[in-house]
Amino acid sequence: MFATSPVQQILFEQRRIFVKRDDLLHPDFSGNKARKFYHFLSKDYSHITHLVGSGSAQANSLYSMSVLAKQRGWRFDYYVSHLNDFIIQHPMGNYAAAIANGANIIDVSQLQQAFQYQQMHLDDVVKKIIEANYSRHCSLLHIPEGGRCEYAESGLAMLATEVIDWAQLNNLTELKVFLPSGTGTTAAYLNKQLKLQLANNNITRLNLEVITCSTVGGDEYLIQQFSELVDKEYYPTVVNDGHKYHFGKLTKRCFDMWKSVCVSGIEFELLYDPVGFLVLKDYLAKHSQWQGDIVYLHQGGVLGNQTMLPRYQRKFAK
Ligand SMILES: *Cc1c(COP(=O)(O)O)cnc(C)c1O
Repeated sequence: MFATSPVQQILFEQRRIFVKRDDLLHPDFSGNKARKFYHFLSKDYSHITHLVGSGSAQANSLYSMSVLAKQRGWRFDYYVSHLNDFIIQHPMGNYAAAIANGANIIDVSQLQQAFQYQQMHLDDVVKKIIEANYSRHCSLLHIPEGGRCEYAESGLAMLATEVIDWAQLNNLTELKVFLPSGTGTTAAYLNKQLKLQLANNNITRLNLEVITCSTVGGDEYLIQQFSELVDKEYYPTVVNDGHKYHFGKLTKRCFDMWKSVCVSGIEFELLYDPVGFLVLKDYLAKHSQWQGDIVYLHQGGVLGNQTMLPRYQRKFAK
């Protein structure tokens, strides 16, 4: 279903690092959302007719769910807290692509019952809506926001296998896998699967460490997310550069970092990758003696640049 994603080299901070191009995994399915939703493509879900999701109108997961629904022939309803007029009149990026795939995007603030939902978390609103409106369908699949669910593990097991195979083929012995986290689902399951697979295959020549950083809510929140997914022995290493990052906030530091890594010829995305590279830069400076290799996981999401880049350009024009 997915081909093995390629690994390329770039120069970052005068140092060779590898980039695992999960953004090239599949023409329609991008990055870690494709890994997370792999389960729903590979298993028999023929009893399902409806997919329900929720989150932001520009989320990478909205687009990936729309591809999943289209491929499987499911109706797809996606709930958002609010849709602004600009996006309705100028659809772009993940939102436009999802609509083109047939997504039915529903603004809960416009529903008749909206007054009941005002103080509620979107996840709880969606639960209520499902109970009220979809109760007769046992053929409903609900994927929670950001795709944080145990289903994500099987696709990330495949990613772990690809990383181990590639490292062995290239005789690497000291490897750190670096990726920026949102919910931490990708980092936690990837680390768990790497550890399990190394142990199960008696691979002792390869030292692997998964290193991640928070882009939302800080280190403690991220570690708390891990605790809901995996045992403590599988928590990835969390690092930071002393800055507190607010998700989706446009800063000059982030924009400059994004521009400088894109000079490599690889387009990175603008929400997670700038933070990832800023923290990686700091990490490399603090570990300048370390001799091993780094592989940075490109987790896709570049479709979102269609909306993020104009926002950055407006904010930091010349
Ligand atoms: C969703 C996403 C992430 C965060 O993944 P988590 O598993 O929630 O940590 C990182 N990068 C990109 C490009 C994403 O789309």
